[in-house]
Amino acid sequence: MESILLLAHTEADGSLAKPALEALAAAKSLGGELHIGLVGAAIQRGADQVANAGAARILAVSGEAFTQPRYATDAAAAEALCRASGAALVMAPATSRWSRALPGVAFRLGGRVDSHATAIAVENSVPVLTRWFYRQRMEARMTRSQRPWMILLDAGCVAPWSGPAGAAAVESIALPAPETRTSVVGTRAPETGEQTIRPDAKLLFVAGAGWTKKQADGAVHAADAEKLILDFLRASKASLGGSKSLVDLSGEGEAVLRFMTHLNQIGQTGATPRHPKGLSTCCHGEEPHAVGWRFIGQRRAINLDPNCGWARGKADVLYVADAFEVMRHINALLV
Ligand SMILES: Cc1cc2nc3c(=O)[nH]c(=O)nc-3n(C[C@H](O)[C@H](O)[C@H](O)COP(=O)(O)OP(=O)(O)OC[C@H]3O[C@@H](n4cnc5c(N)ncnc54)[C@H](O)[C@@H]3O)c2cc1C
Repeated sequence: MESILLLAHTEADGSLAKPALEALAAAKSLGGELHIGLVGAAIQRGADQVANAGAARILAVSGEAFTQPRYATDAAAAEALCRASGAALVMAPATSRWSRALPGVAFRLGGRVDSHATAIAVENSVPVLTRWFYRQRMEARMTRSQRPWMILLDAGCVAPWSGPAGAAAVESIALPAPETRTSVVGTRAPETGEQTIRPDAKLLFVAGAGWTKKQADGAVHAADAEKLILDFLRASKASLGGSKSLVDLSGEGEAVLRFMTHLNQIGQTGATPRHPKGLSTCCHGEEPHAVGWRFIGQRRAINLDPNCGWARGKADVLYVADAFEVMRHINALLV
């Protein structure tokens, strides 16, 4: 088997996050000579974390310039690591940093890059990649003859590598800070007030526009809805998704579910998260929404309408009930 370089950037505390360890497990499974290339302000902690992963070499580009996500510095670091390693295959987690930087690095090296990989295996001594196209509607199995072949592995597809930490010997690659026009002055996140998107949660809780509609008493109960949903999220640690109708309403500044942003949207033009279970509430379950549930293991929905989309084969269980009442009851059970 050909040699493979695992590229990873360290977190703020110098450690390696789960997506990096998932990509490491995928890289190891190929059986070729493994190199690990680390990028970050401080990399020793991350290197020690994978000291016993069986890498023939651990290379690193480190320094203050490589702390922040930024195309110029990330691409320069990745390029230097690829050249120093000389590996034919390069595996990296599909973080926003690598997804942005690696296509340019592949071009500089005369190689190729593929994103949205979900698996890699060896067949007839050749690496075969499984990846998605067209927003995860089509799956392809493919090989490439060009090298280096860079692969961005989607998170949550492979069990992360785990093993005891050790004292790693790191080969430091000297790289002067590249010229850059971008300086990072801070981070601005959507003002959601609290963290509601939790990719590792066991449950995806989806809120639909029904939460903002007139209820049986002829009135809208937005404040009630907000409290019921937030109480449930805090108690269950579920991840929050929304239908397009609901996130659009919130984006328009309506006084509804202020913590909901477009980042929460699930569906054809939203996200396709992976969780073992999902619970949809006050959401109709139309096809453009339900396609975002492709990787949800068990699907349940609460809707007043027995003829809603979920009833038509899209959910495993449909509770025909008032979600306000059901969630109030569930929250009482959770305290
Ligand atoms: C090109 C295209 C792309 C799209 N992409 C997406 C996408 O990515 N994601 C997405 O979500 N949509 C998408 N849509 C829109 C999608 O078709 C639907 O319009 C949207 O999902 C509807 O949202 P909803 O079910 O929350 O709202 P509604 O259709 O208004 O449904 C509200 C539901 O709440 C129920 N309800 C009301 N009160 C209660 C209660 N007290 N208890 C229980 N149930 C109650 C009602 O019975 C109703 O079924 C797309 C559409 C197009 C054309």
